[in-house]
Amino acid sequence: MGVDDLVPLTPWRLVWRGIRRRCPLCGGSACFDSWFQVKDRCPRCHFPIHREEGHSIGAIGMNTIVSFSALLVTLVGGFVIMGNQRRGAPLVICLMAVAVLVPVAFYGSSQTLWSAVDLLMRPLEPDDDVDPRWIPPAAKR
Ligand SMILES: [Zn+2]
Repeated sequence: MGVDDLVPLTPWRLVWRGIRRRCPLCGGSACFDSWFQVKDRCPRCHFPIHREEGHSIGAIGMNTIVSFSALLVTLVGGFVIMGNQRRGAPLVICLMAVAVLVPVAFYGSSQTLWSAVDLLMRPLEPDDDVDPRWIPPAAKR
């Protein structure tokens, strides 16, 4: 996708980009230096991924919501799978694995997802200093 086929930023598009560790504004995929290290700005459109003070608090919130949702799904799924023959140990082991692996796996996505939610709540401002070629058209109402 290039500058010539920009699409409006709908809420689902923003969230989908955030979950996939992409820039919320342009959808660019080079926003990370490593699995855990997000860049200050998108190298393609110059969108500030850390747009505000306290960005990490929002990202932690996103990661917490996703992690607890995964725990709930695991717990309910475990109950459903085991039926009437419930045993604690396998379920606890699965829950512990989910509790450790999901927050680590989702850490990067939580950064870009919070950035996407932030962009949804606070539209672009001149202070964001993005490359104007990447500013998408407004969504039709
Ligand atoms: Zn970008």
